[in-house]
Amino acid sequence: MAVLLVVVDGLSDRPVNGKTPLSEARKPNLDFLAERGINGIMDTIAPGIRPGSDTSHLALLGYDPYKYYSGRGPIEAAGVGIEVKPGDVAFRANFATVEGEGSIFDKTVVDRRAGRIEDTSALIEAIKEKVKLPVEFLIERGTGHRAAVVFRGEGLSDKVSDTDPKAVGKKVKRCVPLEEDEKAKRMAEMVNEFMQQVHEVLENHPLNKERAEKGLLKANALLLRGAGEMPHVPRFEEKTGLKLCVIAATALIKGVGKIVGADVITPEGATGNKNTNLDSKVETAVKALESYDIVLLHIKATDELGHDGDFEGKKAFIEKLDAKIAPLLDLDFSKHCLILTADHSTPIKVKDHTADPVPVVIVHEDVRRDEVRTFSEFEAYKGGLCRIRGVDLLNIALDLLNIAKKFGA
Ligand SMILES: [Zn+2]
Repeated sequence: MAVLLVVVDGLSDRPVNGKTPLSEARKPNLDFLAERGINGIMDTIAPGIRPGSDTSHLALLGYDPYKYYSGRGPIEAAGVGIEVKPGDVAFRANFATVEGEGSIFDKTVVDRRAGRIEDTSALIEAIKEKVKLPVEFLIERGTGHRAAVVFRGEGLSDKVSDTDPKAVGKKVKRCVPLEEDEKAKRMAEMVNEFMQQVHEVLENHPLNKERAEKGLLKANALLLRGAGEMPHVPRFEEKTGLKLCVIAATALIKGVGKIVGADVITPEGATGNKNTNLDSKVETAVKALESYDIVLLHIKATDELGHDGDFEGKKAFIEKLDAKIAPLLDLDFSKHCLILTADHSTPIKVKDHTADPVPVVIVHEDVRRDEVRTFSEFEAYKGGLCRIRGVDLLNIALDLLNIAKKFGA
C-alpha cells in the first residue's frame, strides 16, 4: 500500500490560441487516468503565488515552504551530495572566467560558465586542499560549471550579498553584509577571503594552464549566489511515520528530498532533460512502491521546454511521457494510490513559472470518480477535487489509503 506521486515539472500552460501543449498532445494513458480518477486543479503554494520548483516540492511533500524554505543554496548543496546541517550557510556557485589585473574584485567576468567546462573535479580537489578559512567549508561539483559551497561553524550569517554579477563584462562583486550585524559583517569578509584564495588556487592550476594552451577559457573564479542558512527541517519519517523515496535527476529536487530525509534515487540514464531514460525512471518508481510508503517521481523536461517557449517540443515530450507511463496503468489501485500532477505551470508564452493552478488527478479504487475524461488544464477543474492546495495533497491520498490519523474524537 503506497502512494506514487508523479510530478511533471512545469507541465501546464496558459492557452496559445486556445490551446496548450497538454491539451493538444495525443495522450491516451493520461486520459485513461483522468477517467479512472478524481480530478481537480491545485495551487501548489497558494493562489497567485508563483512557485519555485523547490518551494512547490516542499509543499507537495506537506512542508509549509514559508516555514522551511531559506533560499536555494542549502537545497542545491544537499542536491550535489553535501550533508548540510542546521546552521550551515550554503551558496550556489559557478565556475567562471575572469580577466584583468589586481585582486579578484578588480577583475571582469568574461564567461559565467568558464567555457562550459565539463569536469571540475580536479579544481574542486585543489580548493579543498589549499584554501584555508577560520571556519570549515565544504564544496562539491554539480553538473558542468555548477558547484555548491557550504560554510560551517560558529557565528555565520546568510544575510550577505552575492559575488556573482550575473552578467558578463561586469566586475566580480564584493560580498557585503545585508544587515547591520557583526555576524553578517564577519561572514562577508570571510566570503571575500574565500573568493580571493579560490581565485589564486584556480589561476595557477595545471588544468587551467592546459585549457589556456588549448585556447579554452580558464575556470579561474568561483562566483557565489543565493546564500541561505539551513533551517531545522523535521525528517519526513519522523513527521509522518512514513518512508519516502524521491526519484529525480535534477539537483534541486534531489536536494529537496535530501533535506526532508528521503532516500533519493537517480536511476540509470536519468538526466533531467528531454533525453532522459523514462523507462528506467518508471520502472524504478514501480519497484520502489514495494519498500516505501510514498514515492515521488520527478520528470523535468516539460519545464525546460516551457522555459524555451517550445510548444511543439513540449507537446512531443508529453506524448512520449504518455507512452512511457503505460506500466503505471497496471498498478493495483485497490492497494496503491497514483497521483499525477505538476509543481507549477511553465507557460510557453511566459517562459517562466506562473501561479496558474495545475491539473491533478488521483487514482485509487475508492475515489469518487467524476465526469472528467481528458487530462488537461481545461477539463481538470470540472472534477470532484475542485481546487486544492499543494500542502493538502498527500493528506488526501493518505486518507484514501485509510492511513490518515483522525483529528478529534
Ligand atoms: Zn518546477
